[in-house]
Amino acid sequence: MDMSELKLTHGLHALRGEMRMNESMKKYTSWRAGGEAERMYIPADLADLTQFIRDLPEDEPVHMVGLGSNLLVRDGGIKGTVVVLHARLNDLRLEQQNEEGGLIYAGAGVACAKVARFAALHNLTGAEFLVGIPGTVGGALAMNAGCYDTETWGVVEQVKTLSRTAQLCEHLPGDYEIGYRHVALKPARAEDQKKECFADEEWFVGGWFRLSNGKDSASRKKIKELLTKRINSQPLGLPNAGSVFRNPPGDHAARLIESCGLKGFFIGGAMVSSKHANFIINTGDAAAADIEAVIRAVRNTVKEQTGIVLEQEVRIIGNAK
Ligand SMILES: Cc1cc2nc3c(=O)[nH]c(=O)nc-3n(C[C@H](O)[C@H](O)[C@H](O)COP(=O)(O)OP(=O)(O)OC[C@H]3O[C@@H](n4cnc5c(N)ncnc54)[C@H](O)[C@@H]3O)c2cc1C
Repeated sequence: MDMSELKLTHGLHALRGEMRMNESMKKYTSWRAGGEAERMYIPADLADLTQFIRDLPEDEPVHMVGLGSNLLVRDGGIKGTVVVLHARLNDLRLEQQNEEGGLIYAGAGVACAKVARFAALHNLTGAEFLVGIPGTVGGALAMNAGCYDTETWGVVEQVKTLSRTAQLCEHLPGDYEIGYRHVALKPARAEDQKKECFADEEWFVGGWFRLSNGKDSASRKKIKELLTKRINSQPLGLPNAGSVFRNPPGDHAARLIESCGLKGFFIGGAMVSSKHANFIINTGDAAAADIEAVIRAVRNTVKEQTGIVLEQEVRIIGNAK
């Protein structure tokens, strides 16, 4: 489909975002690897994104991307349209603050670290953990990102979503099935007024975060400590996507991988980090196929040696070359 035609058909509603064709996803994923997006749309703002989605042909596949920090795009690329939200849906505001705490609204394209710092600036506590998550608010909501026993949905009061049919909706946490790195919209109940808001495909466009009042500079201190901990334990100098596998109940994926002697194991340009065994780094020119092959090899070896089947945390999309 010709997207320049799409723009022309709108007349008064001309789109204001940016359309790119055959855009390499290397720039949009933290692994700096992978193929091209057939089409990429970078919306100007929420109204523009809503208009864009409304006008897309029904059968056009849509892939929402934040900062691509949990994403592997196969080398053959992605069919359909990739929509990049980072730095576009970027409202960040304090909506309420009183003796009980505060409420922050953050658009889906805001970087998580910005929310952590904004909350600390307003002396609110509970969002410090977000400083170490190099993704967007939308990605954190989709993944229920978390660390050090804190998870995104633990502080969510409400979210705003956009459905594939271009409906803007608001949902409460109770509308979702929420677990460890897992979030899924539940089916509509008979009493739900807005049944169209329980669509199969929807994306987060923003969220409200309920936080408590902090004490003096405690949040800023905690942020500094969390960052130091990360620098000391993670291979942040080379492209990666954080933890590749989920931790199995009662254990750590990194411990299991290390116990199988896999630190330093590599295929092509992809290598199991020797600093953190659950990280796979791109040592320079890794193809997505190298990274996927290392993921497969690690999973097989851990299963053979320990009997435990590791589940992937990173999401893999697109076609092989
Ligand atoms: C160095 C490093 C450290 C990390 N540490 C942690 C950690 O401590 N804890 C942790 O949980 N994760 C961690 N991660 C992984 C990653 O940062 C998180 O999963 C993050 O939430 C992904 O956000 P993103 O914007 O990059 O999402 P993307 O990678 O762009 O997308 C991830 C998934 O979310 C979907 N998605 C993105 N935006 C939206 C949206 N607006 N609406 C609906 N779906 C959407 C995408 O379609 C995709 O399926 C780390 C990654 C790196 C590179």
